Amino acid sequence: MNVQTIMVIGAGQMGSGIAQVCAQAGFNVILNDLKREFTDRGMGIILKNLSRQVEKGKLTTEQKDEIISRLTLSTDLQDANKADLIIEAAVENLDVKMKIFSQLDQIASPGAILASNTSSLPITEIAAATSRPEKVIGMHFMNPVPVMKLVEIIRGLATTDEVYETIEAVTKRLAKVPVEVNDFPGFVSNRVLMPMINEAIFTLYEGVASKEAIDEVMKLGMNHPMGPLTLADFIGLDTCLYIMETLHEGFGDDKYRPCPLLRKYVKAGWLGRKSGRGFYVYE
Ligand code: NAD
Repeated sequence: MNVQTIMVIGAGQMGSGIAQVCAQAGFNVILNDLKREFTDRGMGIILKNLSRQVEKGKLTTEQKDEIISRLTLSTDLQDANKADLIIEAAVENLDVKMKIFSQLDQIASPGAILASNTSSLPITEIAAATSRPEKVIGMHFMNPVPVMKLVEIIRGLATTDEVYETIEAVTKRLAKVPVEVNDFPGFVSNRVLMPMINEAIFTLYEGVASKEAIDEVMKLGMNHPMGPLTLADFIGLDTCLYIMETLHEGFGDDKYRPCPLLRKYVKAGWLGRKSGRGFYVYE
């Protein structure tokens, strides 16, 4: 299938990054969110990233302008009827995603592929909200999208080979590396990463060490580029909690029980970097 126009739903930290790399790869991109202020904020992130690339000499001003000209902002889901591929990057909540996919199924052209950037939710269940489960697939980008090479591609139970191959080709055109995984809670990335982050939060909760000490041990001792608590703040504590809940419910195993401290922070609105406060405070 020939993909020319991509719609990205959700202009948050992931959606704006996905829209940017798609426009940089030459696709026409529609970036959608619920309100104009959210799409403007997403566009602001993209402009800042592209300007930085111009300053570093990686892009010319003309190239930057050309990339921007391929991006359109939208607050109307009906715009999905113009897209060949729709990549959903709204909040990590199954009800929200099911509702979006059922609406997209009505609006998008019959041949359009519907992809989700979910970090952990079952693609098969999201696909069941549509009448085209064979055209639904997981496309899990890593944060920050313009920098990270991996895209986990998740086949739902009904996803066809043709759809998989189209998404694999689009991923390569974005200069990313596709890795195929099956549809299990958390896929590979977050099944391995998130329990480690949750355990780091338990370590803080139980007073084993300070947040700085926990991060330092993992950075210097395990050669991780950032400590797990810094990484949790970067991902978003609400997203971390949703993922742990998905693992806990999906496997029915208490080893995935979210740390009470993580719940408490999310309830307080301490969501990490994006809200200005998580385990650390951000200006
Ligand atoms: P975010 O909170 O930064 O952005 C989410 C955006 O979705 C917000 O702008 C919100 O207004 C918008 N939104 C919510 N409901 C919507 C709807 N019905 N229609 C259109 N827009 C809607 O979150 P994020 O970190 O960008 O995460 C988005 C998705 O990407 C989640 O599924 C998350 O699990 C996944 N993801 C996140 C990371 C990460 O490190 N943060 C990494 C990989 C995947």
